[in-house]
Amino acid sequence: MWDASKCDFCGDCFAQCRYVDFDREKAVDEIKRLAAGKEAEILKQCITCVACNDYCPTGADPSNLVFKMQEKTGIAPVDRNPVVRDELAAGLEGRGDPSQIIPGEPDKPVLSFDSFDFTNFPEGTLESRLFQGMSVVRGPEYMSLVGLVHLGAESFVEKYAARVIGKLAELGKDIVYIHNEGYVLAHVKARELGIAVPFRYMHLFEYLIDYLRKNQKDIAKLGKKVSVQVNCATRWIPQQDAWLDQIFEFVGVERPPRQYDRVNALCCSLPILNTNRTLAVEMQEKNVRDALDCGAQAMITICPLCDAIMRRPTSRLGLPKLFITDLCRIALGELSWPH
Ligand code: SF4
Ligand code: SF4
Repeated sequence: MWDASKCDFCGDCFAQCRYVDFDREKAVDEIKRLAAGKEAEILKQCITCVACNDYCPTGADPSNLVFKMQEKTGIAPVDRNPVVRDELAAGLEGRGDPSQIIPGEPDKPVLSFDSFDFTNFPEGTLESRLFQGMSVVRGPEYMSLVGLVHLGAESFVEKYAARVIGKLAELGKDIVYIHNEGYVLAHVKARELGIAVPFRYMHLFEYLIDYLRKNQKDIAKLGKKVSVQVNCATRWIPQQDAWLDQIFEFVGVERPPRQYDRVNALCCSLPILNTNRTLAVEMQEKNVRDALDCGAQAMITICPLCDAIMRRPTSRLGLPKLFITDLCRIALGELSWPH
């Protein structure tokens, strides 16, 4: 959440933004305008990638200020279809498609798919030994909300976070979030909003680290180099890179240094695919070419939307793409390395 008291108006956030070409003076002026509740040029150029949170040295959360102002002013390059907003609200209020709950063993946690369909994840995910015996839940009432900034709907977080957390609490079990953004809602946004989370929860990466540690004897180290396509919301959880590095170590994978990784990672470009396709394709191809140039033998995705969006550029340029759970399943012998 934007914290004006932490901002010293250094301008790092927008001076480093890859989607504008602001010098320091312009960047400082833009953040000052937004902080004063005024319109600014950044609002129509920001693609909602959340990266400026990483660029900000003080933790002021400048992206949140941009998203709030984009929604307030209606200025943004992202899609703003009112019908979609109404449908999202109906789903969150229990007036949309029914939720699905598949019960598992009583002593095992619930795997939350947020509002995604099971089919948005790779085939065989539910049946994998990774999640054996776990209950599974999905549906519009379990939506992670934080990704709605891509639709100009940042206020949905404040409006519905307590309801979503409450729906998960009704399950009476520990929760493992298979999608990064569900974890962000519980671990970051709920805290910011003062919403108590009355269950224990884990990020998928924490769960995988624990699983791989306990099952090391079954792992055949892969000996591959892989690059990573991060999800925008990882910018709210600084520990995710260290978690991913641990997973890679367990499965015997190297993350080769490259230009567009870690703090310099590029967005999959989904938010602007319909509004500025040329820029979206340019960024995607830059990203994949950078991975190939650094010797990557595959690109890992951690979000089903990034996974779907990166299918075209990775396949066009000949870089295999793997969801993070499939990387672990290959190391455990459940799947083969893609050819
Ligand atoms: S969210 Fe991304 S595109 Fe928007 S201002 Fe921040 S860095 Fe730039
Ligand atoms: S939000 Fe952070 S990076 Fe941007 S001007 Fe303020 S302190 Fe600097």
